[in-house]
Amino acid sequence: MTVRTRFAPSPTGRLHLGNVRTAIFNWLFARHHGGAFVLRIEDTDVERNVPGAEAGVLEDLAWLGLEWDEGPDVGGAHGPYRQSERAELHRAHARQLWISGGAYPCFCGEEVSSGEDRRYSGACRSLEVDVARRRVEAGDAHVLRLRAPDAGEVRVRDEIRGDIIFPAKDIDDFVLVRSDGRTTYNFGVVVDDMLMRITHVIRGAGHLSNTPRQQLLWEAFDAAPPTFAHLPDVLSPGGGKLSKRSGAAAVADLRGEGALPGAIVNYLSLLGWSHPDEREILTVEELIAAVDLDRVGASDTAFDPEKMRWVGQQHMAALEDDVFRAGALPVLADAGLDGAAAVEVASALRGRIATFGELAEHLAYVRLSDGERLARFRAGIAAEDVADGAKEVIGWAASATPRLTSWTRSAVAALIREIGQSAGVGGRNLYIPLRLAWTGEVHGPDLATLVMSLGRDEALRRLETVRAQ
Ligand SMILES: [Zn+2]
Repeated sequence: MTVRTRFAPSPTGRLHLGNVRTAIFNWLFARHHGGAFVLRIEDTDVERNVPGAEAGVLEDLAWLGLEWDEGPDVGGAHGPYRQSERAELHRAHARQLWISGGAYPCFCGEEVSSGEDRRYSGACRSLEVDVARRRVEAGDAHVLRLRAPDAGEVRVRDEIRGDIIFPAKDIDDFVLVRSDGRTTYNFGVVVDDMLMRITHVIRGAGHLSNTPRQQLLWEAFDAAPPTFAHLPDVLSPGGGKLSKRSGAAAVADLRGEGALPGAIVNYLSLLGWSHPDEREILTVEELIAAVDLDRVGASDTAFDPEKMRWVGQQHMAALEDDVFRAGALPVLADAGLDGAAAVEVASALRGRIATFGELAEHLAYVRLSDGERLARFRAGIAAEDVADGAKEVIGWAASATPRLTSWTRSAVAALIREIGQSAGVGGRNLYIPLRLAWTGEVHGPDLATLVMSLGRDEALRRLETVRAQ
């Protein structure tokens, strides 16, 4: 059996961390088994569709590297891949169920609730087939309902949770086709999964409640259901399910911040799954090799932004040098750094960043205004309690800097040591005033590298403005 998984987003907005995890598991599982990953757009809820959202979803998946084998743009043997284009297939399968007796027309209307009990009474179940057909042909408004079992149980096999049993009496003869001819969600999903030969339905636990109805539909079609696997819910740091509303970052925004797609795939794969050796930093290839539904837990898992950032840092540190430079150099150029100085600064900052956007934040010192820098200097030496002697340090620095003939990182490092000896201070009493004067920061990466990147004239000018204040 060729494994076939699917991801079926609705085009209602961009993908976010809460819903893209499902795509990642389906993709990894399909790749692990050398199978196919199918992309299906569930766009039948026309009012909720957002123009352009489908293109956005495709862009997000492509950027994450989750390439699909079949989908609305690439086609495939089981298309079309937009649910709205499958209405005729759905109707044909509805007719098939009616003919086989698995479904029947009901003339009571879709909403038959009376008070608390929203279940349908089954009034039209026993209508003579000929009577029902004549009424349908005469144009009587009707819906099509599944003939659900009255008693017993509905047993769903879930790869993560084991067998899940639902009492049949909890499921009424639910609607498959509405009076306007549109099919309902569960019916469309089952027909599509069946025709697309989906072997594994991997999705969020929120879908568990749909599963018994879908199981009954598979049985009504006399077809073997797929293997279900309901992933644990991901909770947001503030509690509640992680969603766009609870602040789950959009994939497109993470991309804009210069995040690494491999790091996002890595982090999200750890939400509910663990590597057999408990390894946490994994390349996409390693994830594909190791992913396994047996190691997915059933209990809720929590999204941890700090952990995601840590995973991002590890991936940033592990990038090939040329890949890192290709991402970093445009950011450095934007900040006003280029050439050999830019490469050195990038190396000095690499271990501190999880995204290229963070690199930009660390480069703010290059274009920091004099007013802001001087204000930070005054506040910083007071807050750090290094005001004593700071004036001397800056004075020695301003007189020593012009004498430096070579302007390299190591020459600047020697200069800083010489300033310390001349002023008779060391450690934080030396470094904090200098770092504040040159960069406006109290802490940061190797100071000599940053000062070297400013150039001698600018480094001197910054000392003079501090000395003059
Ligand atoms: Zn009825």
